[in-house]
Amino acid sequence: MKPNLIATRFLGAETVAAMIARKGIAACIAGLADYIRDDFRRWASFDKSARVATHSPHGVIELMPVSDRALYAFKYVNGHPGNHRFGLSTVMAFGVLAEVETGLPLLVSELTLTTALRTAAMSAVAAAALARPDSRRMALIGNGAQSEFQALAFHHLLGIVQFHLYDTDAVATAKLLANLGRLGLSARAFGSTREAVRGCDIVTTLTADKTRAAFLTPDMIEPGMHINGVGGDCPGKTELHPEVLRRARVFVEYEPQTRVEGDIQQMPADFPVTELWRVLAGEAAGRRAADEVTVFDSVGFALEDFSALRYMRDLAQELGIDASIPLIPELPDPKNLFGYIPVLPGLARAA
Ligand code: NAD
Repeated sequence: MKPNLIATRFLGAETVAAMIARKGIAACIAGLADYIRDDFRRWASFDKSARVATHSPHGVIELMPVSDRALYAFKYVNGHPGNHRFGLSTVMAFGVLAEVETGLPLLVSELTLTTALRTAAMSAVAAAALARPDSRRMALIGNGAQSEFQALAFHHLLGIVQFHLYDTDAVATAKLLANLGRLGLSARAFGSTREAVRGCDIVTTLTADKTRAAFLTPDMIEPGMHINGVGGDCPGKTELHPEVLRRARVFVEYEPQTRVEGDIQQMPADFPVTELWRVLAGEAAGRRAADEVTVFDSVGFALEDFSALRYMRDLAQELGIDASIPLIPELPDPKNLFGYIPVLPGLARAA
């Protein structure tokens, strides 16, 4: 067997950051949106399941598998809202893309930066189908790690030109304000969620707090608003008041997972929702009227990471990046795994 048959491509965080810089962040988000749209439109080709979550008082660690007949992917991701006190991000991730025919891991990649890009791309894909086409102003409630990526996706893919910011942590808002300023985007800080969402066409909620919050209340909702609910993504972790959901048409990624993890965990089991793939495939209506209120109850589904891993693999190829790691032992005789261990004198002796 040739050595390069067994090499697994490796994309670390620094490499992915450099790839994003070379390609351009807007082009990456647009490319990811295309990959996500393509994969959602072939929904039936995927072997899907809700992610496997391990909860602790501090947060959650999740495994997210999905596959079609050719490729298998999984993501490892956590959500620990208190991580900042250790100098760590709330969300950290990596993932694997493997070939189904042999099970060989083709790619091991960082997915912390990539998750921020793919979540923003997914939000924009949903909003393109659900928000009013004349939307220009968006509120960003929660100004942490994901927020710049969301702003860029909505600016480049939806035409949003004005951002209203609010976070309980004024330092996070100042950071977002400065970063958006450097990007030439118009943004303004507000003193509360109520003030920030007033007059907005789209409201993106991006907070991290392991609590049943309901800070977006029905009295704040204006006719025709689209709500991109991103932070309510775990049992016992919500952002939207149940009455907001009741008054809106609600769209989800993968219903069995969102019933448990999304803001709709607050609603009865028969609360009506539409899976977004149906809208993207032309099987269900997106927005039906200018004054309708729509909600994308996003939790993050494995298929988005499958699309993201495919995109990063193809982008690495395009940019000529071919770093690999010797993850799987390369054996002249695949049945002689033992022979891979250097034979040391006394190996058979008892320790
Ligand atoms: P982060 O910790 O970097 O930022 C979260 C911000 O929310 C913090 O600045 C915090 O001060 C603020 N906040 C907390 N409670 C608030 C409130 N009541 N009002 C206003 N601001 C408040 O986290 P992040 O990486 O930006 O992630 C944000 C959220 O998005 C997390 O809950 C994460 O789990 C979720 N997320 C979802 C997806 C998805 O696909 N749906 C993907 C990635 C992250």
